[in-house]
Amino acid sequence: MGDFDAIIIGSGFGGAVTACRMAESGYKVLVLERGRRWRVEDFPREATDPWLWDNRDPVKRHGWFDFRVFPNMTVIQGAGVGGGSLVYANISIPAKPETFSRGWPAEITYAELGRYYDMVGTMLDVKKVPLNQWPERTRLVKDAADRTGRGDRFEALELAVTFDDAWTYDQPSPHAVARSKEFVNAHGQKQGTCVHLGNCDIGCDVRARNTLDLNYLPRAEQYGAEVRALHQVTAIAPEGDGYRVSFDRIEPTGLVPGYASARLVVVGAGSLGSTELLLRCRDVHRTLPDVSRQLGVGWSSNGDFLTPAIHPFRDVKPSRGPTITSAINMLDGSADGQDVFIEDGGLPDILGGFLGRVTSAPPDTAQARLIIESLRPLLTGNNLTDHVMPWFAQSRDAGDGVFTLEDGRLSLAWDIAKSRKTIDAVVRLHQELARATEGMALTPLPWTIAQDLITPHPLGGCRLGQTSADGVVGHNGEVFGYKNLFVADGAIVPKAIGLNPSRTIGALAERIAALIVADGR
Ligand SMILES: Cc1cc2nc3c(=O)[nH]c(=O)nc-3n(C[C@H](O)[C@H](O)[C@H](O)COP(=O)(O)OP(=O)(O)OC[C@H]3O[C@@H](n4cnc5c(N)ncnc54)[C@H](O)[C@@H]3O)c2cc1C
Ligand code: SF4
Repeated sequence: MGDFDAIIIGSGFGGAVTACRMAESGYKVLVLERGRRWRVEDFPREATDPWLWDNRDPVKRHGWFDFRVFPNMTVIQGAGVGGGSLVYANISIPAKPETFSRGWPAEITYAELGRYYDMVGTMLDVKKVPLNQWPERTRLVKDAADRTGRGDRFEALELAVTFDDAWTYDQPSPHAVARSKEFVNAHGQKQGTCVHLGNCDIGCDVRARNTLDLNYLPRAEQYGAEVRALHQVTAIAPEGDGYRVSFDRIEPTGLVPGYASARLVVVGAGSLGSTELLLRCRDVHRTLPDVSRQLGVGWSSNGDFLTPAIHPFRDVKPSRGPTITSAINMLDGSADGQDVFIEDGGLPDILGGFLGRVTSAPPDTAQARLIIESLRPLLTGNNLTDHVMPWFAQSRDAGDGVFTLEDGRLSLAWDIAKSRKTIDAVVRLHQELARATEGMALTPLPWTIAQDLITPHPLGGCRLGQTSADGVVGHNGEVFGYKNLFVADGAIVPKAIGLNPSRTIGALAERIAALIVADGR
């Protein structure tokens, strides 16, 4: 039945991986992605460029970043063919083994996920920054770990970036685009090697980042998958032996409704996107009325936190080198009893100028004013380019956020009470690490005054469970009560991972695709 064997909604880690593996196995696959197909020449750079996605008006704004502001929590996501891989900091690392010991279905273990982690690592061609190319930020993290007695906890991290071993900082014009070496990757896509431009989150000028639009997605297309950009899915309804998927095509003149059908649907619209779509189908359209009452429950911000610190005696140069490179691993409860993963952070070179212009415009909410005030020290004078270290961290928060629809809009109930100790531990650690390296941590005002947080790592909403009493999908990603309807993205992660989650999301999607194919669905 239907026009396709499988419709995949979204083209991020969940969508791209399942589309690729199912197309390889002979399924006729359609991928519907709300964002555009980005080319290097279209990456946003100037203030007037398409920086933002606006869910309320995607015809007017279908740009790079999708910021969702909820009370006390702002979520950042990507929008485009390649999903979050377009905007992410390239860190591609497995979760720690103990992550799966509680709160996960018994079928999913670290040992069993191992081969799927490896498959993602191979496709994304992950590597650590070569030792001779460590940016100053990596040395700063290493120093901070050594000086606070945590040298054995320092980790250089794997990145989905292609490095040229012969590149060094001490050559004339090291960051010139001409220093990047062009090559054709295993999927026939033109790329270049990393010249440490530091623009990872806003698109790599030399295509050194191994993003999903350069590996999984072209491979899916080579096996016949059709990828339609600027198609925002609005509803899923059972039809015959499968499902009808309704969408709005985003045209310059407005939204054009349409639909397609398939015997199998994989929802991969991300933690917020998949949760919102299923909530609409359950509660508004009532096309999927039996989706579990657990939908929206148990959402986590992955305990993300950023503390800018000024290191007056160090040439930190946050806008040089890949955005994140290394970590101090304290996920064993050694941060005052809390599980914390500290990382270095970078900022794109041009971001200071752009945000500087934004800060001169009057912000329209108290929350926005607080965020901008806390960023101001980063954006003025030479501090940004030379001496500021954005210390990043993830941690295992309580994961007790709840998404619902209110007046037709996605709404988040987020209470810091049970996560406060964890974030406080991060704040103290950032202060200690900055102090140990002659720096001064500037704990963000939004946290100090209002406990406002920002996360680029939303997790949960359609979490994995054993039955519909404790989850929305089973261990194979299938929605309880709906045969051949799957969720395969960050929405199914049942609790905080405490470190960068995309490799785990990719591995879970590899596992779900393998089970779908093995079951002959
Ligand atoms: C600035 C930034 C830096 C990050 N750095 C890292 C990092 O270094 N390492 C790491 O592991 N993680 C990082 N992340 C997080 C990472 O990007 C996400 O965890 C990951 O992308 C989630 O994968 P996903 O498949 O769940 O969703 P996504 O990758 O977000 O994909 C969902 C896709 O669905 C599309 N979509 C949504 N709704 C609809 C709809 N209704 N119809 C059609 N399409 C829809 C979206 O446009 C998107 O393309 C970062 C995120 C940000 C924002
Ligand atoms: S550091 Fe620059 S060159 Fe390297 S991956 Fe990031 S944006 Fe590309």
